[in-house]
Amino acid sequence: MSTPHAADDTGPSRETFLPVLDTVHARFKLWGVRGSTPTPGARFLRTGGNTSCMTVEAGDELFIFDAGSGIRELGLALVEGPPRRIHLFITHTHWDHIQGFPFFAPAYRKGFEIVIYGAEGFGKDLKSIFQGQLDRDYFPVQMEDMHAHLDFRQLTTTPMTAGSAQVTWEFAHHPGATVGYKICLGGKKVAWVPDNEFLHGYTGAPEEITRDHPLAVPYVPMIDFLSDADVVIHEGQYLPDEYLQKIGWGHSSVANACVLMKLAGVPRWVVTHHDPLHEDTFLETKLNLTRQILAQIGHPIHVSHGYDGRTESF
Ligand SMILES: [Zn+2]
Ligand SMILES: [Zn+2]
Repeated sequence: MSTPHAADDTGPSRETFLPVLDTVHARFKLWGVRGSTPTPGARFLRTGGNTSCMTVEAGDELFIFDAGSGIRELGLALVEGPPRRIHLFITHTHWDHIQGFPFFAPAYRKGFEIVIYGAEGFGKDLKSIFQGQLDRDYFPVQMEDMHAHLDFRQLTTTPMTAGSAQVTWEFAHHPGATVGYKICLGGKKVAWVPDNEFLHGYTGAPEEITRDHPLAVPYVPMIDFLSDADVVIHEGQYLPDEYLQKIGWGHSSVANACVLMKLAGVPRWVVTHHDPLHEDTFLETKLNLTRQILAQIGHPIHVSHGYDGRTESF
C-alpha cells in the first residue's frame, strides 16, 4: 500500500542544486560596442554608448582589446584589485579605439605593468600616438605622470604568446594600419575585428559572392583568419541603403558582413561597433534583418548584438 511518504523515496532528490559559475575557462566581456564616438542618451541605453573595448579573461590572466571609452570603467574595476600585468592589443589608433586610455586608472598606479601592442603606423609609432593624445593641449596629465610600467610593442608575424594565450592578427580593410585579433585560450578561439569594410563598394546580392569571386579574392587572408574561430566579434555597421552613402569609410554593410561570416564558416557572430546614429529600437530591427540575410544565403548561424557589459564564456 503506498503512502505519500513512501512515494518520496523514489521521487526527485531533495538536495538543492546550487551550480557555481566556472570562471577558470575563458570568457569575454564587452566594455564598449559603439563605433566612431561615444553615444550617451536614453535612446542608446540598452546597447550602451561606450566606444570599443573588450576583455578576455581566464583565471588570473587578462587581455584587453582596444582602449575606447569603455576601458575607463574596466580600469576602475582593475584598481580595486592588486597590481598586475595587463596585455592591451590595439587594432588601430582612430579615436574610438584609444580615447579611453588617458582615463585608464591602472596606468597611473605603480606596480601595474601594461604591455601595449599595435601595428606599425604610417607616420608615428604607437608610443608617440599615445603620447600625442596626452599632449598638454588636449589633456592635463602627461605620460610621465603615469606610474605604471608601460611597454609598447610592435606586432610580430609570429604568434604573440602571453601567459597561456596565443594572439594572432590579420590586416583589416580600413583606413590606416588596422588589424583584427584572434586569441586562443584553453583550446578556444575568439576573434575581435571591430572595423573592417568587407567587399569594399559591393552593393549587390550577397548570394552572388563566393570565395573565388574576383571581389572576394583580396579578402581571402581575413576569411582564412576567421575560419577557425569559435566566436567572431565583428562589425556590420551599415544597412545596405546607408552603405551606398558610406562606401570607403572603412565599415561593412550588414549584407557584406553576412557574406564574410558565411565564407569563413563562422558559427557564432557577435555584432559590435554600432553606428552612433543607430538607437536601440533601430538596432533591434537591424538584428532581425541580419538573421534574415544569413538565412537567405544559407548560413543561419547564431548572431546577436554586443552591448556594453555583455559577458559570455566561450
Ligand atoms: Zn572604430
Ligand atoms: Zn577606425
